[in-house]
Amino acid sequence: MAGATSPSQPCIFCQIARGSTSTPLLHSDDKVVAFQDIKPSALRHYLVIPVEHIPTVRDLQRRNEDYGLVSHMLNVGQTLLRRDVPQSNQYRFGFHQPPLNSVDHLHLHCLALPFVPRWKHVKYLSLGSLGGFIEAEKLLEKIKPFSPIPS
Ligand SMILES: [Zn+2]
Ligand SMILES: [Zn+2]
Repeated sequence: MAGATSPSQPCIFCQIARGSTSTPLLHSDDKVVAFQDIKPSALRHYLVIPVEHIPTVRDLQRRNEDYGLVSHMLNVGQTLLRRDVPQSNQYRFGFHQPPLNSVDHLHLHCLALPFVPRWKHVKYLSLGSLGGFIEAEKLLEKIKPFSPIPS
């Protein structure tokens, strides 16, 4: 048991990742799980989260482990959307940066457009240096290790 000094709320995404909720998992492996966003903003809206509790994109660093994890999350999201919504040819993948993130457990938003309703697109705008939404590809550039990843 954790120390009595930290009566922190159990993290809902950790519970989902452990399969201890009724949320159906669209994908699960030893690193990530995927499920439907409970409040979808688009034609199809999935979340991919790491099994390990990583709070936000700010906790990711330029190292192979983090780069590999985010690439894997993106791969899983792309595969699911291409399989489930092949009729949409517009997909968006990215993360909310603090303080605009809703849950403090890293989650990749995977959206098959159009946005529903249309105004929802404002939640997924990049606000430049203010933060906002960061595309997964952009985040990967930011945390890409300087040394080549050993294959
Ligand atoms: Zn968590
Ligand atoms: Zn979010």
